[in-house]
Amino acid sequence: MSKAIVVGSGAGGSIVSMALAEAGWDVVIFEMGPQYYTNLAGTGPFPTVFSNDELKSMRYFEQPDPLAFPRTFRQNANQNAAATYVGAVDDLSNQVGGTYPHSDCKFTRLWDIDFKGLSLLGPVPGADMADWPFEYSDIAPYYDEVEKLIGTQGDLGSTPALVLKHAPQEQPFPMPPGAQQRSSLLLAAGAKRIGLHPYFAPMVINSVEYNGNPACNNCGFCSSYGCPISAKPTTLIPLRRALQTGRADLRPLTQVTKVNFTGRRATGVSFIDPQGQPGTESADVVVLACSAVLTPWLALLSELPDPYGRIGKRIMFQNFYEGFAVFLDQRVHAYKGRALTQIMQDFNDPDFPGARAFARLAGLPYIRAGLCELGGSQNPITEGSFYQQILGFLPGVQFFGRPFKELMRVSLLRDRLAGVDCFGNSMPYLTNNVTLDPTVKNFNGQPVPRITYQNGKFEQVSQDFFVPLVAAMCGASGAQLYAAIPKYVVTSLSGPPVPSGKHTLGGMQMGVDPKTSVLDADGRMHFMDNVYAADGSVFVTSSGAHPTQTIMAVALRIAYGLTGQRPGAAATAPAAASPA
Ligand SMILES: Cc1cc2nc3c(=O)[nH]c(=O)nc-3n(C[C@H](O)[C@H](O)[C@H](O)COP(=O)(O)OP(=O)(O)OC[C@H]3O[C@@H](n4cnc5c(N)ncnc54)[C@H](O)[C@@H]3O)c2cc1C
Ligand code: SF4
Repeated sequence: MSKAIVVGSGAGGSIVSMALAEAGWDVVIFEMGPQYYTNLAGTGPFPTVFSNDELKSMRYFEQPDPLAFPRTFRQNANQNAAATYVGAVDDLSNQVGGTYPHSDCKFTRLWDIDFKGLSLLGPVPGADMADWPFEYSDIAPYYDEVEKLIGTQGDLGSTPALVLKHAPQEQPFPMPPGAQQRSSLLLAAGAKRIGLHPYFAPMVINSVEYNGNPACNNCGFCSSYGCPISAKPTTLIPLRRALQTGRADLRPLTQVTKVNFTGRRATGVSFIDPQGQPGTESADVVVLACSAVLTPWLALLSELPDPYGRIGKRIMFQNFYEGFAVFLDQRVHAYKGRALTQIMQDFNDPDFPGARAFARLAGLPYIRAGLCELGGSQNPITEGSFYQQILGFLPGVQFFGRPFKELMRVSLLRDRLAGVDCFGNSMPYLTNNVTLDPTVKNFNGQPVPRITYQNGKFEQVSQDFFVPLVAAMCGASGAQLYAAIPKYVVTSLSGPPVPSGKHTLGGMQMGVDPKTSVLDADGRMHFMDNVYAADGSVFVTSSGAHPTQTIMAVALRIAYGLTGQRPGAAATAPAAASPA
């Protein structure tokens, strides 16, 4: 029987671990973060120490502490990253289950044209545009399978024709949509008034009991928080199934520091255990599932063969646009609920009215943005901190006391705000990459990931075209105050425009040509016989969709490639097989 090491227990790693363990493989899962669940291998809900605690969240409960594990950032190769910025750069979570259980868990599919961007839409000047090594129709059965496996709410009947044209789906969502947020409905009404097509956001949050876990109670602390009642277990479901086989060994607080190899074969990994002691583990196959920045970082630290210098190249951050609508005449209760409940995908369409003509004027073949999330809000401490900053600018006004309390009561940024997050479709640029920082080291003495990133003309022109439409939508929703601004403008106000948005992709690109990609169509490194990657790093193009359904679907496809199974195996595999 084969033995695999899976590095990382997040969206990609959890799925691969389940598929391999249920097919009879021995699996060792290394996870550098802590284990916050007391019943991971049991049945029923997952009791946890998560709570609706904004302070805890700000103190790196879910995130790596950037003092211990910093990254460096620069916009181009001429800058010294260590002198430009040292700290968090769009860090994802470090813990058992990875980042997704702390997200707002929207679950959307890439479009057919995302998989064949080069063939169907053509090259983009300056970008390293490429096709994925498979098509939408190849990945669709895996999309269906992960939707069922971890439970998705949504409504196929009201999904816009444009979305179903580019991401055809026959299988209904396993759960109906939950209660709709007022803030989302107001913005959706505004979107409809200007001819756009909002709809229920598909999400991996229980609207009814599913997999033995309860329905969401709309507590309001959802995006960036783990769920205190286990209504969005997501990656914990496949992790549990892996552990229930008795063949998976999960090792939290254990960081893999190197993939060991001889020639084209990995022999195993080196790691640092929870006591800080070094160790090694051997295996037949190593699967890297550390996330988009950390998988190429580990591959670079390990000096895995890379004759064409492709590891770490083409990092994409789905540059976001922001819009906001403030309703002075009513409370919109955006802070209650699941972050937001409506989305729309119109801006994902390269044939959106006027977009091609606008692109041509700028010398581009086309432009696209991504989907828009309608209706988000702020949490109380974030809101309070913002008011204090504003009050700090006003001479003679105190930070606390009556003015501050009045602002909190009126609650412009929480109870009257309906926010819009609109994803950009980031092009893959060879100049946007992860490398090893030559001077800055982390707590373990390793060179930290150095991220070089800036938007190109495509992203700039897209923003110029779509940002006014976001503002128009906010205005049409009936808000008295509204605007839209590119997020990079917001972030650059306080220093260098460090990427944010948490949709981090690329660095271990899949492809058929070993000269221009890192992984083959099965997720295996072109120049290694038994090293795979299965996480956000494998993305060829960023798309305008949420990334995680594709991360999980592609990871499942890679795992079934290893086990020789066909799509549908997870649905039929026993949830609790006997230990080998
Ligand atoms: C606030 C927030 C909201 C989000 N909302 C959405 C959303 O609505 N929809 C969506 O699709 N996506 C969303 N995302 C993004 C989503 O969470 C990620 O796309 C997804 O989790 C990435 O999966 P992954 O497998 O690549 O990495 P992860 O899930 O981050 O898993 C990687 C794991 O590997 C571990 N690891 C890394 N290096 C090592 C090492 N050397 N040794 C051992 N372990 C290691 C890490 O600790 C981590 O647990 C959101 C993210 C955040 C933070
Ligand atoms: S809003 Fe629902 S899913 Fe989100 S944390 Fe609260 S109870 Fe859990």
